[in-house]
Amino acid sequence: MNVLVINCGSSSLKYQLINSDTEDVLAKGLCERIGIEGSRLVYQPKGGEKEFTESPMPTHKEAIKMVLDALVNEKTGVIKSLKEVNAVGHRIVHGGEKFASSAVITEEMLNAVEECNDLAPLHNPANLIGIRACQELMPDVPMVGVFDTAFHQTMPEKAYMYGLPYEYYEKYKVRRYGFHGTSHNFVSKETAKFLGLDINNSKIIVCHLGNGASITAVLNGKSIDTSMGLTPLEGLVMGTRSGDIDPAILEFLSKKENMDIDDLMNMLNKKSGVYGLSGISSDFRDLENAAEEGNEAAIRARAVFNYRAAKYIGSYVAALNGVDAIAFTAGLGENDSLVRRDIIAYLGYLGITLDDEANKARGKKTLLSTPDSKVKVVLLPTDEELAICRETVALI
Ligand code: ADP
Repeated sequence: MNVLVINCGSSSLKYQLINSDTEDVLAKGLCERIGIEGSRLVYQPKGGEKEFTESPMPTHKEAIKMVLDALVNEKTGVIKSLKEVNAVGHRIVHGGEKFASSAVITEEMLNAVEECNDLAPLHNPANLIGIRACQELMPDVPMVGVFDTAFHQTMPEKAYMYGLPYEYYEKYKVRRYGFHGTSHNFVSKETAKFLGLDINNSKIIVCHLGNGASITAVLNGKSIDTSMGLTPLEGLVMGTRSGDIDPAILEFLSKKENMDIDDLMNMLNKKSGVYGLSGISSDFRDLENAAEEGNEAAIRARAVFNYRAAKYIGSYVAALNGVDAIAFTAGLGENDSLVRRDIIAYLGYLGITLDDEANKARGKKTLLSTPDSKVKVVLLPTDEELAICRETVALI
């Protein structure tokens, strides 16, 4: 069957049409600048060139309409009629404690998602708008919601509770939720398959290192701890996010710099991380170029990033009481051999040795450790759209 996978942001919408039998991507692309001037559709059929179409998209409904029109377009479309879209899988960021797995979309289910909006005020409302728009245009097509948080709902209480007054958990469900769950789930399972490990008897640490970055400890196929928290701000130093800091820094800076809470949150989310540390870029390619030229700020930013990631891996070896495999994924994890080398260099005490030649690999499944390494290290490309497609098929 054909599954349309939709990932809706506040002003953008990414899509892929996947044949779930062959797992072929029939077409993919995105709508940009929804609701603002200069909206355009990017559409790429399998094996074909990217097409760009500028057209007003005041709301997500027009955006999805354009995607559907492109899919059935006589010249470059990949299906004859919309009847060939058999299901839609939607990415939803936050499922709170209500969703420990993907769920078929019903009115009741959407009400439950809406109740999680407080926890992800920027993302969940946009996801819901996309779902409603699809429902209007394809009222008879079954749809499934796949949550970023769901995979982490298996974390034990000791991992998800913060050292805060318990009443805030009771009143508002303030706790660790974790994100990138679809990716951590997919990559941990694929890693086990690739290495011939029994997933039900395995200890895997997944490093999803992109612009947003998180690390998860996966025991027997289940998340038992993860570095992001109530929001995606916690944990690793990221492209522009600070990750863990001493919370008292907020008071200190608010007094010194006369910043209110909105200023502070904006600084932590958008002006920090390797971007803030380096003053150069949030993109590691720029940092690497600058570091090669001896730029101290770029060298510092990379060192802080790598050290923090290594510390998280070390703490998850403790949480798992051992580790069989460490998997690297996402933009940086799949492409940046220096980041992998420098993180793994901290973990020699585990008996890990990296195969320098293998570590040059980019973007394809690769065993990066030497045959005698006590812990396997792998590059395992993530594919959140395919994961959403599989979940959708499993549920309908
Ligand atoms: P997100 O989905 O969180 O936006 P991605 O997983 O797409 O992020 O990762 C984007 C990041 O990956 C870029 O900011 C860049 O730092 C890094 N990246 C991508 N390609 C390369 C590369 N060839 N070499 C080094 N870093 C890369």
